[in-house]
Amino acid sequence: MALIHNLGFPRIGAKRELKFAQEAFWKGQSSETELLANAKEIRTGNWKAQQSLDYVPVGDFSLYDQVLDMSVTLGNLPERVQGLTGSELDNYFRVARGRSTNDSDCHCVHAGEMTKWFDTNYHYIVPEVTATTSFSLNAQRLLKQLEEARRAGVSNPKPVIIGPVTYLWLCKEKDDSSRLNLLEQLLPVYSELLEQLADAGAEWVQMDEPVLVTELTNEWKQAFENAYHTLKADRPKLLLATYFGTLQDNLQQACNLPVAGLHIDAVRGREEAAKVVDWLPAHKILSIGAIDGRNIWKSDLTAILDWLEPLAEKLGERLWIAPSCSLLHVPVDLDSEEQLDEDIRSWLAFAKQKLSELTVLGKAINEGRDAVALQLQANKLAIDSRRQSARVHNPAVKEAVNNITAAYGQRQSAYAERAKKQRVNLHLPAFPTTTIGSFPQTQDIRKTRLAFKKQAISADEYSARMKAEIEHAVREQEKLDIDVLVHGEAERNDMVEYFGEQLEGYVFSQFGWVQSYGSRCVKPPILFGDISRPHAMTVNWIQYAQSLTDKPMKGMLTGPVTILNWSFVRDDQPRSETCKQLALAIRQEVQDLEAAGVNIIQIDEAALREGLPLRQSEWQAYLDWAVESFRISANGVSDETQIHTHMCYSEFNDIIESIAQMDADVITIETSRSDMELLDVFEEFEYPNEIGPGVYDIHSPNIPTVEQMVNLMEKAAKRIPAERLWVNPDCGLKTRQWQEVIPALQTMVEAAKRLRQG
Ligand code: GLN
Ligand code: ZN
Repeated sequence: MALIHNLGFPRIGAKRELKFAQEAFWKGQSSETELLANAKEIRTGNWKAQQSLDYVPVGDFSLYDQVLDMSVTLGNLPERVQGLTGSELDNYFRVARGRSTNDSDCHCVHAGEMTKWFDTNYHYIVPEVTATTSFSLNAQRLLKQLEEARRAGVSNPKPVIIGPVTYLWLCKEKDDSSRLNLLEQLLPVYSELLEQLADAGAEWVQMDEPVLVTELTNEWKQAFENAYHTLKADRPKLLLATYFGTLQDNLQQACNLPVAGLHIDAVRGREEAAKVVDWLPAHKILSIGAIDGRNIWKSDLTAILDWLEPLAEKLGERLWIAPSCSLLHVPVDLDSEEQLDEDIRSWLAFAKQKLSELTVLGKAINEGRDAVALQLQANKLAIDSRRQSARVHNPAVKEAVNNITAAYGQRQSAYAERAKKQRVNLHLPAFPTTTIGSFPQTQDIRKTRLAFKKQAISADEYSARMKAEIEHAVREQEKLDIDVLVHGEAERNDMVEYFGEQLEGYVFSQFGWVQSYGSRCVKPPILFGDISRPHAMTVNWIQYAQSLTDKPMKGMLTGPVTILNWSFVRDDQPRSETCKQLALAIRQEVQDLEAAGVNIIQIDEAALREGLPLRQSEWQAYLDWAVESFRISANGVSDETQIHTHMCYSEFNDIIESIAQMDADVITIETSRSDMELLDVFEEFEYPNEIGPGVYDIHSPNIPTVEQMVNLMEKAAKRIPAERLWVNPDCGLKTRQWQEVIPALQTMVEAAKRLRQG
């Protein structure tokens, strides 16, 4: 008998119940008891949804973040929250977000740093360690949830914890010690935890060790040996869970560590599965992650069975089947969707539907395909319908992509030549000032957009109000004496959704939320088909904005790579192919803007870095098509048209050559918080084009002084010739208030003027 199990279930609730419960608690509108009751209700529902599984995850639920939960379990919260008033939960939220309910400003501590969970869009709270960090067990959360699961009727609960090596790998040293040195004293705490879980009746414990799909140095490989040889015990049995990629040169080690079972991601590593079956010692179980836990498409069950059956034959009783990773990364329930059309709906599976697929797979393996003939038939119909749909496949788009030649990515002249022509054309002063695109998204703007969406106001009314907002933004920028203006992006809800809504090949769900961090959820648009642009998307707004002023107006677009990386993307063709389709659509928009007299066009690639594969050895292949896609979108214009791009992060030391290859005339980046530190990279690498290192941190309510800004720019000028420098904020201003933005930009313009005087 093969068994079926799950690695983790989304915890936000089908209608984001957790978000609303968290936020009510933080605002002091509900008590801790109420929050905990809400959480329990969500867990109970989740367990019910997983009833038919042979092993059900427990401890995957979190009130904020599973890594922070693990830090609590290991007694590793930062010193700054020790000894503060309130409950354990108050401290938990202080680490998570800097404050808990009723904390006055003076009680704020600085929140733990947040960073991306591997290559997902989930963000965890980075555990902090120093040379003197010591760990101590607090198993309460897990023990209570085990108990709770039992009461809820879960007969085979499987606690889920982050394994010791991955936990340390995620930690950040707050001094110059090395976190690996802490392993030895971390392990006894894990041993004790495992013992307590076994005592509480857990037969299996899932140890998440996703770092096994990354490139590990010998030190880290050795850490795996040390850890698992120390933890080896008869009970509970350990399931070593790897996911998000292939094991490659960690494969033999992963197979041979002294644990009772191994989970592999066979969606991203299907070819590897057979190898693992060969390598895995005969007493171990193998959990095969066969259903995509990172995407929302229905699985092709027949195709999965075709490759899974031979492995099942070899493995017999030793086979478990599961989703590839925790279902945390997909929305909860397709049944919540009321507005999706039937075609598209029939192609999709959210977390609950994925578990149904798993059940069908398990039955087919155990009892033969005939036992689930009806389900397989229905699945095949859906898969075929998607494969053949004229809504997915647009021959004209495929042909357009096939016809892309090298010339598409090529500007007419090299940067130096273009810059000369642009200078003549644009008449900009030295240290030109500009902003990144958005101006404050006020309550009024949001209300107007909502009213339009609900058809409470007409399209004309909506357009008139948006134009008024644009005019307001333009007049303010003129008053400020900014050199290159923007229209302010009032009409955009979101930088990807706005474009997705206007492109063919996209649909939108109502409740397709995925946790990004804490109470923040995102609802990625669904890119299901060949991408085309039926009409211009931004030209009217930009043209209107340009008509209001003699100063150059910058056209604002989101780039193809960012649109791709922030969507749920079709899985029936390579991402690079889909990206090229997006690139062609954006290219048309760029050319339309140019034809409408817009001389400066910014193509944001905020998420370019996010798409980097987990293994550095695979970076270049990604960067090659990502950069090429950007170039296709940007480079169909004349030399006189100035192309800008923007990236809102500062770590690009390791990809700077690719950034340079994008060949944008101007790039604006985030730098102010790092005190221009990131510009160090330009000491070794001579960035060839113009650059605007941000001098105003838009994430903070604080406004820097003229001196601070001048100072930052002078630092920048040491690395990059002054004639190639721009002066701008770190990112868009949509989250700020006008009363903050005005003085900040006044200061910025003042700083630029001072710089011009030398
Ligand atoms: N143009 C966008 C804005 O200003 C860029 C946002 C971003 O980089 N995330 O809002
Ligand atoms: Zn940004």
